[in-house]
Amino acid sequence: MQLPEWQPSARLQLIDWPWLAERDIHLAMLRLDQIDPLISGNKWYKLRGYIEQAEREGYQGLITLGGAHSNHLHALAAAGRQWGFPTVGLVRGNPVQTPTTQDLQAWGMQLHWLGYAGYRARHQPEFWQPWQQQYPHLLPVLEGGGGVTGTKGCIGLIDNISAELPHIGWSDYDALWIAVGTGTTLAGLVLGEQLRHPVIGALAVPGDHGVAQQLSLILQQAGHHGGGYRLTEASRGGFARLDKELAEFMRDFSDITGVILDPLYTGKMMLALQQEIIRGEIAGGSRIIAIHSGGLQGLRGMEPRIRQLLR
Ligand SMILES: *Cc1c(COP(=O)(O)O)cnc(C)c1O
Repeated sequence: MQLPEWQPSARLQLIDWPWLAERDIHLAMLRLDQIDPLISGNKWYKLRGYIEQAEREGYQGLITLGGAHSNHLHALAAAGRQWGFPTVGLVRGNPVQTPTTQDLQAWGMQLHWLGYAGYRARHQPEFWQPWQQQYPHLLPVLEGGGGVTGTKGCIGLIDNISAELPHIGWSDYDALWIAVGTGTTLAGLVLGEQLRHPVIGALAVPGDHGVAQQLSLILQQAGHHGGGYRLTEASRGGFARLDKELAEFMRDFSDITGVILDPLYTGKMMLALQQEIIRGEIAGGSRIIAIHSGGLQGLRGMEPRIRQLLR
């Protein structure tokens, strides 16, 4: 397979939200959701290292796993179609049609449904064996594009931000916010920052999922000596759990700022940020950059539920 030359650059957008201005807090979003019509968000950055590795080691394509709304599967399938390499997706649960799985199939990703128990076995050492036997020419990619390989592709986002600052008239910023699933993207940002700015990770998964430990392990493996970030709870009781307050916040945010958020990651991050501001934990005069990590393709399958919450 051939490595794509593509090096996307995301733009910074000032967020015009009177509620923030009243508190003298300045906010800009890095629009990773806009880097490409199909390959959206942080997932491309995490996949890039795996695609490089596949090319280096003579693989023809990639195989990975995720849920039926997975942004990760979606980004990989889109990349495979764009650059003409085969992809296989191992999907959690029983076969269902979602807007996401329809795209995956339309783009030529081969799907295998693992059920729920089968998917839970993904961390066991022998999990990959049968798949590697069936697809010896495909490189296995960890869930969500995790691990050090995924992390490295996110380091360059800091240069992207630095290059964009003059366009919004900022000379610097005080903190960087990112939604956290596996923590892979956060780890890349922490490595890229080299302690220049604190990175705040808004946890989209409950704190007991071991993200904190996983994160310090990845950072250690990458040679980081600690510090430079903190985690804040944002999951609102569970990954993929939606509630009325969140739905209303997302609706108001997009009405006022024109920026659409996804309910699992960026919506929860921005609501957690608002709550820290309300609690007085963020100093007036602060300039905050929040990363819009995408996820809007997954929003399609959740719209009925969100409409219901807004009734
Ligand atoms: C996957 C995802 C994240 C989480 O990224 P991690 O590197 O796993 O922490 C955040 N936001 C969106 C929209 C995502 O799809």
